[in-house]
Amino acid sequence: MSLTLCSEALSGCSGCEMSLLNAGGSSLSLLDRFDILHMPLLMDHKYFDSAGGAQEIDIPKARLGLITGGVRNEQQLRIAEIMRRQCDVIVAFGTCAAYGGIPAMMNLFEDEDLFRRYYRTAEGTDEALNPSEVIPPFLERTFALDEKIAVDFILPGCPPHPDFITLTLESILEGKFPQLPLVSVCDCCPTKREGKGSAQRIRRFLKNARRQPDKPISEMRCLLDQGLLCMGPVTLAGCAGMTGGPPRCIEARVPCRGCHGPVRKGGSQIMDILNGLVSNGIDTQNLPDRLSLLRFSGAHGRMNRRSARNAH
Ligand code: SF4
Ligand code: SF4
Ligand code: SF4
Repeated sequence: MSLTLCSEALSGCSGCEMSLLNAGGSSLSLLDRFDILHMPLLMDHKYFDSAGGAQEIDIPKARLGLITGGVRNEQQLRIAEIMRRQCDVIVAFGTCAAYGGIPAMMNLFEDEDLFRRYYRTAEGTDEALNPSEVIPPFLERTFALDEKIAVDFILPGCPPHPDFITLTLESILEGKFPQLPLVSVCDCCPTKREGKGSAQRIRRFLKNARRQPDKPISEMRCLLDQGLLCMGPVTLAGCAGMTGGPPRCIEARVPCRGCHGPVRKGGSQIMDILNGLVSNGIDTQNLPDRLSLLRFSGAHGRMNRRSARNAH
């Protein structure tokens, strides 16, 4: 049986689509079982018909709609609404769609500051006026998809691991949703832990870690124990796919940044890690770069201009 599929990319980097296409043999052969009706990153499909005559965005009806990216402007909002109307099942595909992701870092800045940076002060950019006609108006901030439309399934990851992309597509073909991991990155991490609170203060993500590259990862001391800001305790597992191997960043001997979003639904990565550190007797007063704790989950009103002001 094949299913009709539409896919849209909103405010993101297209890495999720790359992951979908890079998923390898099993996933690519799986795509044969979908009748792809609309995927702007792969195929030319005119929003307003080929003659440009239609008034409304034209997205075909489909059984499955994959949406990557958060919602930052009025056009993206309209596309999300039409996808919802046209697709029976909507999957928020990737961390940007699920929690705002990296683009939600924009929520810290006034629009005018962003325009000034993009068009006038960025290194390598010739100074220009703000474009007035070619970009859709911004919404007041970047929204996760489920803040704007009903979402049926969330597949987190920046990007999601190909194993879970395959599992999700296979399950949907069978008329169900898959069970994704429910544990944290720490639960899958083989590093040596020497006890709660062994670090007294926390340094930046990368600073003087004892990575011991000549030893197996199981002999490396937990990076948080070493005093490095590792988001493993509050981040959903899954980045290693179904291999059973160590989390990807830990395997590279750098701390987890939190790209799979919170472990528990509705959880706040910043509150959860701060509470965890405090309850283990670790000083969080001078924690460097606090807002980076929301680097991947700044939608749902968690990251805003006021929090940027309060951080300084
Ligand atoms: S979740 Fe990551 S890979 Fe996917 S669109 Fe967002 S930034 Fe790109
Ligand atoms: S805090 Fe980081 S290094 Fe330590 S166990 Fe958790 S994921 Fe591994
Ligand atoms: S270790 Fe953390 S930041 Fe790195 S890929 Fe896994 S979930 Fe993402």
